[in-house]
Amino acid sequence: MKGLLPVEEAQARLLGLRQPLASENVALFESLGRYLSVEVIAQRDQPAAPLSAMDGYAIRFDDLPGPWTVVGESAAGTAPDRSVQQGEAMRIFTGAIVPPGADTVIVQEDVALVGGRLQLTGDGPGTAGRHIRLRAADFAVGTTMLRVGTRLTPGAIAAAAMSGAGQVSVGTRPRVAILTTGDELVQPGRNLAPGQIPDSNGVMLAAMLHGEVAESTLPHHVRDEREILSKILKDMARRHDVIVTVGGASVGDHDHVRGALEDAGGQIDFWRIAMRPGKPLIAGRIGDAVLVGLPGNPSSAFVTATMFLLPLIRHLAGAQYPLPVVHRAPLAEPLSAGGGRRDYLRARLDNGRLFPSFGQESGLTLPLASANALLIREIGAAARDAGEIAEYILVA
Ligand code: AMP
Ligand code: MG
Repeated sequence: MKGLLPVEEAQARLLGLRQPLASENVALFESLGRYLSVEVIAQRDQPAAPLSAMDGYAIRFDDLPGPWTVVGESAAGTAPDRSVQQGEAMRIFTGAIVPPGADTVIVQEDVALVGGRLQLTGDGPGTAGRHIRLRAADFAVGTTMLRVGTRLTPGAIAAAAMSGAGQVSVGTRPRVAILTTGDELVQPGRNLAPGQIPDSNGVMLAAMLHGEVAESTLPHHVRDEREILSKILKDMARRHDVIVTVGGASVGDHDHVRGALEDAGGQIDFWRIAMRPGKPLIAGRIGDAVLVGLPGNPSSAFVTATMFLLPLIRHLAGAQYPLPVVHRAPLAEPLSAGGGRRDYLRARLDNGRLFPSFGQESGLTLPLASANALLIREIGAAARDAGEIAEYILVA
């Protein structure tokens, strides 16, 4: 379709509206999921000394096949108090420092103490250096452990800790306000008068933000009145980095997001995006805050939040790769040809195969209940058979 903005271009423009937020230091315990803003460099060698990988005896390889005089012991947590000379062996445990002079560890299953002397009873170590973890075998001082923009996973946190860090510098959490608009909306669980519906998008967006690096408020409901919306936008912009509105994004008589943003002194950009669902999207700035106006239909709101709102929040929080990752899997059923906009079909990835949801109208909510993927169908894509490969984004 002519005049529609490609998704990638709209994403780039949205992320271009604001630089990532400032950074802050947080303890490793608090860092899960955050995005690193200063790289982590190893402050130490790991291991800092050669360590035994087994329980056994530290010896000189040249002294094989023994026997040996046992001189003391080296256990994890302390340095050995002497070296190993010719004909000597030191009792050693996993993780303990190999004493100077020794170059090999014999596992305890391969030896026996006979009359106070240590004797070889098994095959022995075979080569010099067996069962020893060399100094800096894991990483050396100065190694780049984690790069800027990395998401801190449990494994990344472990690596930072071992390298000597106790805290890390990460992007600040964006403060996000959720505004739902529409006279028909009622808080979930309340009684409904004729014409009213539960405000499902508010709780959905709050839940989507829950898994992100964001400080989000409870959804705030606003009636379809331009003046009220304008006042609230102005007020929210002072205390938030992102304002997400849902509903009222089109050009109907009761769609006030654009007008209200203009009244509030914001700069507005209104896009028609080459995607389905979710063609209309409002982007703008009000003060320092970025406004993202999502369409109200439940499936449209879900898809546009996935493709635009969440990437914006990750970008502001310091992510190097804020966009959803595209995966590939075979189709479980045939898929018809693509149209004039890129489709993000609600789908289920089950046992490695993609099942498009039965209903794809943007107003539906039931398909959202079981969708764990958005199946991407490109503009003008040919029809495909079951078993052919399709691209998708994970959404659960
Ligand atoms: P709008 O974008 O305001 O024109 O809304 C489009 C459709 O989505 C209408 O049927 C609305 O009733 C519905 N809708 C709007 N906001 C919500 C919401 N927060 N929760 C559920 N449905 C909504
Ligand atoms: Mg509305």
